[in-house]
Amino acid sequence: MNIHEHQAKEILKEFGAPVSNGIVIYNSEEINKKITKLKSKEFVLKAQIHAGGRGKAGGVKLIKNIENLKKEAEQMLGKVLFTHQTGPEGKKVKRLYIEEASDISKEFYLSCLIDRASSKIAFISSVEGGMDIEKVASKTPEKILTNKIDLKIDGPNETEIQRIISVFNLNTDQKKTASKLIKALYEILIKKDASLIEINPLIITKTHKLICLDAKMNFDDNAIFRRPEILKLRDLNEEEPAEIEASKHDLAYIKLNGSIGCMVNGAGLAMATMDIIKLYGKEPANFLDVGGGATKEKVAAAFKLILSDENVKGILINIFGGIMRCDVLAQGVVDAAKEINLSVPLVVRLAGTNFKEGKKILDESNLKILSASDLNDAAKKIVEAIK
Ligand code: GDP
Ligand code: MG
Repeated sequence: MNIHEHQAKEILKEFGAPVSNGIVIYNSEEINKKITKLKSKEFVLKAQIHAGGRGKAGGVKLIKNIENLKKEAEQMLGKVLFTHQTGPEGKKVKRLYIEEASDISKEFYLSCLIDRASSKIAFISSVEGGMDIEKVASKTPEKILTNKIDLKIDGPNETEIQRIISVFNLNTDQKKTASKLIKALYEILIKKDASLIEINPLIITKTHKLICLDAKMNFDDNAIFRRPEILKLRDLNEEEPAEIEASKHDLAYIKLNGSIGCMVNGAGLAMATMDIIKLYGKEPANFLDVGGGATKEKVAAAFKLILSDENVKGILINIFGGIMRCDVLAQGVVDAAKEINLSVPLVVRLAGTNFKEGKKILDESNLKILSASDLNDAAKKIVEAIK
């Protein structure tokens, strides 16, 4: 789960990290009342969307005098921003963060994340912070320092901390602040079940202060049940409606841009199914894993979800019945297909537990279903059927 920058900064503040003062607004009328909380002469107006790259897309603006603030806020609210992280449809700005502006002297990059491959916590630091970190990573990777540390209760020790911040070339006071920041990031990662915290840029101001100027946080969905204070920060406006619906039914669903809807059990089989669709020259419309012991209601919900995507021109169901029974799957599909008047071709490949019973339900349903003998055959048939 992602949260907004202003929420991430609230958490940073709570853990003692240096952030500027700011206010959140949902409409420009709120400015007059709230702006008195900020003490600066200049402000930064920041679109709150779950995507980075706002700076280059007009979603971050330095406002030199307070009179312009309202006008600029009105222009930014409701605007659709297109950044390299929003996808082609962009993201509509529904809330703004207004922050006391900082005078920047240097921009660094700092992040802390779970490195699954090594089962360690990785800290990534670079002096090349700001808006082009992706370019730095691809063109001059030597400018990015990664330090992996073992999971331990006390967090990184002094030597590890100094190694992480060594690239920044800080003075004594700044080192103290940076050291506290590193400890804070680690603590947030552990205590809030974050999987990624990214500060880009981490800045040094012209008055030599170290400040987290931008913040992105990502949380582990599997741990969110024990972090109600984080779940409260969820902004459904920022999520794909179909994915919200899927999470209600506990389905692992990710919308993609292709034309063949897939219903599969098991993530590995789902990936193999997507691969083979591509092999036959088409693109999957989604990733969908209905899981092990799915009920027929869950299968029906999954089926409707696939069909709610108007790009779907055909559906491929690929189920290997282990704990999941083929007859339960078949009944769910038939119920849902009848309810919504299925109008696109459907190819079903079933194997495993209660295969015969499942096939019988499908055969007797009067639905136009193409059955397939194996995955190869199934992919070929669905690609052929939608031509
Ligand atoms: P992002 O583009 O979505 O990552 O948004 P950021 O919050 O990182 O802001 C983008 C850029 O705007 C930063 O790299 C800074 O150069 C600039 N910026 C943000 N806040 C301030 C500020 O307080 N003062 C100044 N001068 N520039 C800022
Ligand atoms: Mg940034």
